[in-house]
Amino acid sequence: MKNSSQTTCSCRELDSVKLSYQECCQPFHDGRADQSVLPETAEQLMRSRYSAFVEGLAPYLLETWHESTRPQELELDPQMRWIGLEIIKTRSGGPQARRGVVEFAAHYLDGQREAQQHEVSTFVREDGAWFYLDAL
Ligand SMILES: [Zn+2]
Repeated sequence: MKNSSQTTCSCRELDSVKLSYQECCQPFHDGRADQSVLPETAEQLMRSRYSAFVEGLAPYLLETWHESTRPQELELDPQMRWIGLEIIKTRSGGPQARRGVVEFAAHYLDGQREAQQHEVSTFVREDGAWFYLDAL
């Protein structure tokens, strides 16, 4: 795990809003266990899941995965080099919503080549907590 407290949060690298990891996703990662800090929007959850991939936080990814689609276990590839998250469009998933749809591109390096995972993800909120559901 890199010391990212002083630098821009990994979910912000292609974003004009510069927030440190402490100001951005760390509270969600640290607060999930006792549900003291939860993302308010589907996009915030999406960002915190991306940065969890970067930080190698498999438990957080499983906890924020809806139980109906959650895999039994999740093995993260330590060789995977994520280089930025681009939120293309947040279609729904505001503070009052129960369902969210976020289109994004997650950029990574495939050897020397830059590649991206483009996905339209759906999210659902239950008892105040957002969960990743699946990809459209
Ligand atoms: Zn972040």
